[in-house]
Amino acid sequence: MADLMEAVTSLAKRRGIAFQSSEIYGGLRSSWDYGPLGTEIKRNVREQWWRSTVQLRDDVVGLDASVIMSPKVWEASGHLEVFTDPLVECLNCHQRSRADELPVPAACPNCGQTAFTQPRNFHLMFKTNMGPIEDAENTVYLRPETAQGMFVDFATIQQVSRKKVPFGIAQIGRSFRNEITPGNFIFRQREFEQMELEFFVEPGTDEGWHDFWIDERMRWWTDLGLSEEHVRIREHDADELSHYSKRTVDIEYRFPFTDWGELEGIANRTDFDLKAHQTASGEDLTYFDQEKNERYHPYVIEPAAGVDRAVLAFLLDAYREEEAPTAKGGTEKRTYLALDRRLAPTKVAVLPLSRNERLAPEVRRVFDLVKSEWMCDFDDAGSIGRRYRRQDEVGTPFCVTVDFDSLDDAQVTVRERDSMGQDRLPIDGLVDYLTERL
Ligand code: ATP
Repeated sequence: MADLMEAVTSLAKRRGIAFQSSEIYGGLRSSWDYGPLGTEIKRNVREQWWRSTVQLRDDVVGLDASVIMSPKVWEASGHLEVFTDPLVECLNCHQRSRADELPVPAACPNCGQTAFTQPRNFHLMFKTNMGPIEDAENTVYLRPETAQGMFVDFATIQQVSRKKVPFGIAQIGRSFRNEITPGNFIFRQREFEQMELEFFVEPGTDEGWHDFWIDERMRWWTDLGLSEEHVRIREHDADELSHYSKRTVDIEYRFPFTDWGELEGIANRTDFDLKAHQTASGEDLTYFDQEKNERYHPYVIEPAAGVDRAVLAFLLDAYREEEAPTAKGGTEKRTYLALDRRLAPTKVAVLPLSRNERLAPEVRRVFDLVKSEWMCDFDDAGSIGRRYRRQDEVGTPFCVTVDFDSLDDAQVTVRERDSMGQDRLPIDGLVDYLTERL
């Protein structure tokens, strides 16, 4: 497709999936708002992650920690010292870039000149004040990752959940990074959402568990519809590893604006964080293994994915344009999102064939039946063909049409999105029919 990114971004804007934040004021760079359909897609992504990571496992529990934590957390974790990116400024046009993202040989992405300032370490954490006084004493930070909540609360959660190692703590929430070069729609923002699991294991078993989680997470992405040729695993080079990591693997997606871009990082964080917080806080953050009668700091395997990048990858992978037959025997361009049904924002659309009042009670009855089961839409505006196209474009798997025959035979027509195949079936059997397929 000529420009897939352009097509998806403009569809997202046109249908209100995601668009610039504060648009009436000219927008705020790198901030995006998710409209009604985008909100549903995001909810579905989170729901699928939670289901596979927490609900279907008996060894992972959830957490919802604060965005603003004690500043001591960031001192102990090393973020205050090293959570920086190398910033350079073009000597010609003054555009700022990340030195590690410049092309080789380095040339300004804006003007093409090759002279830059020396790189300086630019700190990525957002700083603010807690309470009315703006001084160093009251400086706090917006978290740049959700992970520290799991480390700081490790002992409490282990006790209250009575889990034995190996076990994990999962969290979904907002993180904030003052990125030097945000962009590519929702790919790189300064405020975004993460889905992170900290899985605590006995030292010595960490490498096996790391491989286990790499496989699990790859399966999650492809099971939800990313095609296998568009995802890959990339091993971090030694000089690229974060300060806490023994080994990191990225799951990357073939985003159209770059060769490959990170969807998720899966790191072996060792016992770095628990030890660092124990030293800084003076609290005991070891685990007591009753069977072996020994105490140790567990190692941690961390799969960390982004909700927004997930939404973008799923949209890009699902986007289809094709020539479809029209009722009049010709063809026309059809755009549809072949989203996995679990991710589709609206599962069923109810479309009365006409606005005639005679149809209204039956239409109401059908809509009431389905809306208690799934997110549904009701649309009676325009020709039926146009209404199908509107639903296709946002990935609605099923459209249910109520027509005048429905009044006599108590049946409706169900149309499936990808095949455009239609089935006629009794209204009484509609919920069962859809349940089987959703
Ligand atoms: P990158 O190299 O792209 O800056 P990262 O390696 O810093 O990413 P991690 O710290 O591993 O990212 O964060 C885990 C996940 O959180 C990423 O895989 C990504 O999906 C998401 N993420 C990180 N930064 C952003 C951002 N600025 N905007 C949107 N999502 C992000």
